[in-house]
Amino acid sequence: MGADMMGYLVKGPAKLSKVAIARAKKEYWALCQEMNKEGQRKCLNCERLVGLGEERCETCGDPLHEWPRTKAEADTEVNNMAADWLPSYRDVACRSDPDDPEQFLVFAGDMSYGDAPEGAGYKYLQELLTTGIGKALGIR
Ligand SMILES: [Zn+2]
Repeated sequence: MGADMMGYLVKGPAKLSKVAIARAKKEYWALCQEMNKEGQRKCLNCERLVGLGEERCETCGDPLHEWPRTKAEADTEVNNMAADWLPSYRDVACRSDPDDPEQFLVFAGDMSYGDAPEGAGYKYLQELLTTGIGKALGIR
Protein backbone atom coordinates (compact mmCIF):
# COMPACT_ATOMS: atom_id res chain seq x y z
CA MET A 1 0.00 0.00 0.00
CA GLY A 2 1.19 3.48 -0.80
CA ALA A 3 0.06 7.03 -0.69
CA ASP A 4 -2.21 8.42 -3.37
CA MET A 5 -2.12 11.87 -4.93
CA MET A 6 -5.10 13.87 -3.73
CA GLY A 7 -5.88 17.31 -5.05
CA TYR A 8 -8.01 19.71 -7.03
CA LEU A 9 -7.42 20.78 -10.61
CA VAL A 10 -9.31 23.86 -11.79
CA LYS A 11 -9.33 26.21 -14.74
CA GLY A 12 -10.03 29.90 -14.48
CA PRO A 13 -9.34 33.30 -15.98
CA ALA A 14 -5.85 34.76 -15.73
CA LYS A 15 -7.40 37.89 -14.23
CA LEU A 16 -10.78 38.15 -12.50
CA SER A 17 -13.06 40.85 -13.86
CA LYS A 18 -14.99 43.31 -11.68
CA VAL A 19 -18.18 41.92 -13.25
CA ALA A 20 -17.26 38.37 -12.15
CA ILE A 21 -16.48 39.54 -8.60
CA ALA A 22 -19.77 41.46 -8.38
CA ARG A 23 -21.66 38.39 -9.66
CA ALA A 24 -19.86 36.17 -7.12
CA LYS A 25 -20.85 38.50 -4.26
CA LYS A 26 -24.50 38.39 -5.32
CA GLU A 27 -24.60 34.60 -5.74
CA TYR A 28 -22.64 33.88 -2.56
CA TRP A 29 -24.85 36.14 -0.45
CA ALA A 30 -27.96 34.39 -1.86
CA LEU A 31 -26.46 31.02 -0.91
CA CYS A 32 -25.52 32.27 2.59
CA GLN A 33 -29.09 33.43 3.19
CA GLU A 34 -30.44 30.10 1.98
CA MET A 35 -28.03 28.12 4.16
CA ASN A 36 -28.74 30.22 7.24
CA LYS A 37 -32.50 30.11 6.68
CA GLU A 38 -32.59 26.33 6.48
CA GLY A 39 -30.64 26.00 9.70
CA GLN A 40 -28.00 23.89 8.02
CA ARG A 41 -24.37 24.12 7.16
CA LYS A 42 -22.55 22.30 4.42
CA CYS A 43 -19.33 20.44 5.14
CA LEU A 44 -16.67 21.77 2.78
CA ASN A 45 -14.86 18.43 2.76
CA CYS A 46 -17.58 15.88 2.03
CA GLU A 47 -20.43 18.28 1.11
CA ARG A 48 -22.84 16.75 3.64
CA LEU A 49 -25.46 19.02 5.18
CA VAL A 50 -25.12 19.28 8.95
CA GLY A 51 -27.47 20.92 11.45
CA LEU A 52 -26.61 24.23 13.13
CA GLY A 53 -24.92 23.89 16.49
CA GLU A 54 -22.50 21.26 15.27
CA GLU A 55 -18.86 22.30 15.37
CA ARG A 56 -17.62 19.50 13.15
CA CYS A 57 -19.00 17.33 10.36
CA GLU A 58 -20.58 14.12 11.67
CA THR A 59 -19.28 12.21 8.65
CA CYS A 60 -15.66 13.28 8.19
CA GLY A 61 -14.90 15.27 11.35
CA ASP A 62 -13.78 18.41 9.51
CA PRO A 63 -14.54 21.83 11.03
CA LEU A 64 -17.65 23.30 9.39
CA HIS A 65 -17.76 26.37 7.18
CA GLU A 66 -19.32 29.39 8.88
CA TRP A 67 -21.80 30.95 6.45
CA PRO A 68 -21.65 34.74 6.86
CA ARG A 69 -24.74 36.33 8.42
CA THR A 70 -24.31 39.79 6.91
CA LYS A 71 -23.81 40.97 3.34
CA ALA A 72 -20.64 42.81 4.41
CA GLU A 73 -19.10 39.60 5.82
CA ALA A 74 -20.06 37.65 2.69
CA ASP A 75 -18.57 40.36 0.43
CA THR A 76 -15.34 40.34 2.45
CA GLU A 77 -15.07 36.57 2.01
CA VAL A 78 -15.51 36.89 -1.76
CA ASN A 79 -12.99 39.76 -1.89
CA ASN A 80 -10.43 37.67 0.02
CA MET A 81 -10.96 34.65 -2.23
CA ALA A 82 -10.70 36.81 -5.35
CA ALA A 83 -7.54 38.53 -4.03
CA ASP A 84 -5.82 35.13 -3.66
CA TRP A 85 -6.41 34.21 -7.33
CA LEU A 86 -4.05 33.06 -8.91
CA PRO A 87 -3.00 31.19 -5.78
CA SER A 88 0.72 31.06 -4.99
CA TYR A 89 0.77 28.65 -2.05
CA ARG A 90 3.57 26.12 -1.76
CA ASP A 91 1.30 23.18 -2.64
CA VAL A 92 0.07 24.83 -5.87
CA ALA A 93 1.23 24.29 -9.43
CA CYS A 94 -0.18 26.42 -12.21
CA ARG A 95 0.38 27.20 -15.87
CA SER A 96 -1.38 29.04 -18.63
CA ASP A 97 -3.75 26.92 -20.71
CA PRO A 98 -1.91 26.07 -23.97
CA ASP A 99 -5.25 26.18 -25.83
CA ASP A 100 -6.38 29.50 -24.35
CA PRO A 101 -3.82 32.00 -23.01
CA GLU A 102 -6.60 33.92 -21.20
CA GLN A 103 -7.10 30.93 -18.90
CA PHE A 104 -4.94 29.25 -16.25
CA LEU A 105 -4.84 25.65 -15.05
CA VAL A 106 -4.26 25.40 -11.30
CA PHE A 107 -3.56 22.25 -9.29
CA ALA A 108 -3.19 21.99 -5.50
CA GLY A 109 -2.72 18.81 -3.52
CA ASP A 110 -0.38 16.36 -1.90
CA MET A 111 0.32 12.68 -1.46
CA SER A 112 -2.10 11.20 1.06
CA TYR A 113 -2.83 7.95 2.92
CA GLY A 114 -6.50 8.94 3.16
CA ASP A 115 -6.71 12.21 5.07
CA ALA A 116 -7.37 15.44 3.18
CA PRO A 117 -4.15 17.33 2.38
CA GLU A 118 -3.25 20.10 4.84
CA GLY A 119 -1.83 22.55 2.30
CA ALA A 120 -3.17 26.09 2.08
CA GLY A 121 -3.62 25.83 -1.69
CA TYR A 122 -5.69 22.65 -1.36
CA LYS A 123 -7.93 24.27 1.26
CA TYR A 124 -8.25 27.40 -0.88
CA LEU A 125 -9.39 25.46 -3.97
CA GLN A 126 -11.70 23.30 -1.85
CA GLU A 127 -13.37 26.41 -0.43
CA LEU A 128 -13.62 28.00 -3.89
CA LEU A 129 -15.39 24.92 -5.24
CA THR A 130 -17.66 24.03 -2.34
CA THR A 131 -18.93 27.52 -1.50
CA GLY A 132 -19.92 28.26 -5.09
CA ILE A 133 -17.64 31.32 -5.06
CA GLY A 134 -15.29 29.75 -7.60
CA LYS A 135 -18.08 28.94 -10.07
CA ALA A 136 -19.44 32.47 -9.79
CA LEU A 137 -15.93 33.82 -10.46
CA GLY A 138 -15.61 31.66 -13.59
CA ILE A 139 -13.31 29.10 -11.91
CA ARG A 140 -14.41 25.52 -12.47
ZN1 LIG B 1 -17.67 16.24 6.13
